[in-house]
Amino acid sequence: MTRPRALLLDAMGTLIGLRRPVGELYAEAAADHGLTLEAAALDRAFLQAYRSAPPLAFPGTAAAHLEQAERHWWQQRIATTFAGVGVPQLPMGLAADLFDRFADPEPWGVYPEVPTALDRWRQRGLRLVVVSNFDRRLHRLLQRLGLRNALEGVVVSSEVGAAKPDPAPLTRALELLELPAAQVWHIGDSDADEAAAAAAGIPCLRLARPGGVLLPAPVLSEPDSADAPPAPGPTGSS
Ligand SMILES: [Mg+2]
Repeated sequence: MTRPRALLLDAMGTLIGLRRPVGELYAEAAADHGLTLEAAALDRAFLQAYRSAPPLAFPGTAAAHLEQAERHWWQQRIATTFAGVGVPQLPMGLAADLFDRFADPEPWGVYPEVPTALDRWRQRGLRLVVVSNFDRRLHRLLQRLGLRNALEGVVVSSEVGAAKPDPAPLTRALELLELPAAQVWHIGDSDADEAAAAAAGIPCLRLARPGGVLLPAPVLSEPDSADAPPAPGPTGSS
């Protein structure tokens, strides 16, 4: 592999993550709406609902209607999650409340080694674009988490109309950068990242981030020489 000119970075599980299990956050919101539910059960139900979800993408939807489509997509995931713990009917306003809570930076955190890694990559001339299977809340989230200034662009599946493993979000980033696939690498933490990169003809570096909740272990390390590639992974150089 040749040294890349740009890195396409996944967001969730790669740069940022939740500070606490999603089930705890859902249980807290539910409690505010009069429901007492077990966080661990909600966590399992969310995972199942999320894994069986259609892509977070709305081909053919006009930009003016995207937020409505995003809220509806999440409303369905939230309804499925609560149905999975024996709540067939969501309390009025709970889904909207959860959507808004996760638009706030408070539940999110930046993996501790990420700011340094982004700085060093930029110092070495690498251009950085985030490519995420998420919705338009990510733009403001990355800004409020202090990462946006390091990035040349942010591509979200909701706006592209396709989600990884479809290569379209990655090819949108290539268009933005005006670079061919051979000159970029993708860094992500999921099967979808690997499959999308393979379909786009882009080398993929896969991170191991067990659990999906912010962990202190640094696994995204920087290149140790000007010629070395970025070396993520637990055995990477430090
Ligand atoms: Mg991810």
